[in-house]
Amino acid sequence: SHNLFESFAERMAARGDADFIVTRDGRRYSYAQALEASARLASTLTSLGVERGDRVAVQVDKSPEAILLYLACLRIGGAYLPLNTGYTSTEIAYFLGDAEPALFVCRPNAADEAERVAAETGCPRVVTLGTEGDGSLMEMAEQAEPSDAIEARAENDLAAILYTSGTTGRSKGAMLTHGNLASNAQALVDAWRFDANDRLIHALPIFHTHGLFVACNVVLMAGAAMLFMPKFDIDAILEEIPRGTALMGVPTYYTRLLADERLTPDLARHMRLFTSGSAPLTAETHTEFERRTGHAILERYGMTETSMNTSNPYDGKRIAGTVGLPLPGVEIHVVDRETGAALPTGETGMLKVRGPNVFIGYWRMPDKTAEELGEDGFFITGDLAKIDEHGYVQIVGRDKDLVISGGYNVYPKEVEQEIDAMDAVVESAVIGVPHPDLGECVTAVVVPQSGAAIDEQQVIDALTDRLARYKQPKRVFFVDELPRNTMGKVQKNQLRERFNAIYR
Ligand code: ATP
Ligand code: MG
Repeated sequence: SHNLFESFAERMAARGDADFIVTRDGRRYSYAQALEASARLASTLTSLGVERGDRVAVQVDKSPEAILLYLACLRIGGAYLPLNTGYTSTEIAYFLGDAEPALFVCRPNAADEAERVAAETGCPRVVTLGTEGDGSLMEMAEQAEPSDAIEARAENDLAAILYTSGTTGRSKGAMLTHGNLASNAQALVDAWRFDANDRLIHALPIFHTHGLFVACNVVLMAGAAMLFMPKFDIDAILEEIPRGTALMGVPTYYTRLLADERLTPDLARHMRLFTSGSAPLTAETHTEFERRTGHAILERYGMTETSMNTSNPYDGKRIAGTVGLPLPGVEIHVVDRETGAALPTGETGMLKVRGPNVFIGYWRMPDKTAEELGEDGFFITGDLAKIDEHGYVQIVGRDKDLVISGGYNVYPKEVEQEIDAMDAVVESAVIGVPHPDLGECVTAVVVPQSGAAIDEQQVIDALTDRLARYKQPKRVFFVDELPRNTMGKVQKNQLRERFNAIYR
């Protein structure tokens, strides 16, 4: 069968006593222990009434056991459904109502509230899972007989529902199959040369595709080890780097590392790979990191619906400001955002993707699925991109962030790059704000260097000779920091709301 767990199980059995997960506080799961523990959890899930095809909703703090639960869910042919730890009970009620899981796994201290929401939404069972192997789920698992069975699954059968980050609107549940996840994990193991000697520093959250599928599935496919940390903590990361071989990060990890003088070439001597994704890595961060450590960060591009689509090469040139080349088996097209017609090399348009990695649709959103997932198998990503003559893909921004001012298209990134180049500026976000005359008006939100004296007029003046008039911001606002989510994505929606009324 094509159950993703079968590909893991073979390697897990072969790795035996080798490390799978090692935590900072000295806890450790060998591969053999993880196989056994996931088999106990599998029979526990079955005894809790979870059947093949059922969703298992999980909102817990990051722990090794949460990963074992994911494996158990695959084993019995369930659909794993992790939820952002930041969601409130009102949000959880929406997700439980939408997904109708057979089981909800929550944090021990959230049990009462979870019971209430579960009752309200018709979810039949709630169990708890803590970060120290505590909670009712693990108590049950300790008493359970391990079940070694692996439910037969076809490539197209559902393995997980992952909700998108909600950067551009309400989160959508992306339905991912065993075939989607297996093909992408294998492609990344090959592309990034992961093997059993690797020790991946794992600091990402595990409710998102980056930390769950990219990081965990790659480790499992390669039989490698994870140096497992509850979250990104600069002191802890600096301590782990000498023990690891690879780090998967979001761009903010790298800017924070660069801001710390303990980051030296010597510290990163044993590392072989630093990857970045989930949000754009600036060319400046890439270049600066290479200068400081000798390592060129490998940037890749993906999304909840597709897992990873492109990657800079392991051996070839890693080009700053690009997300590299399509992974084997993945087709990338750039088309006119309005007509859908193919565009020549170098022109900016909508990025479409097709391949074994592309999801089968949004959970219970047939209209949205039909809009974005074409009959021809191409998924319309909502990202604007261009491809250079060597095939490298450059993400220009999101279609929804494109500013249309007086009928002209303004790509925020182009303006942001000009503003960011000013000495007194840390970073910026350019948004379109409703304007009676222009439709939308280009507006800049700028984070100044601390202590820098910079005002609105200086920013406007600096751009006068650099950008066509219609691209120049009419207003510039200063903030201490840009609103970001846990994955380091700038929340432009929040900025648009905040400045919505300024031209009225
Ligand atoms: P929603 O779809 O709910 O609005 P989201 O798109 O942010 O939220 P994710 O699936 O977590 O949810 O994020 C995927 C998006 O992240 C991509 O579509 C792209 O815009 C962005 N992204 C990922 N990697 C990169 C990268 N290397 N460079 C630039 N953008 C990236
Ligand atoms: Mg998206």
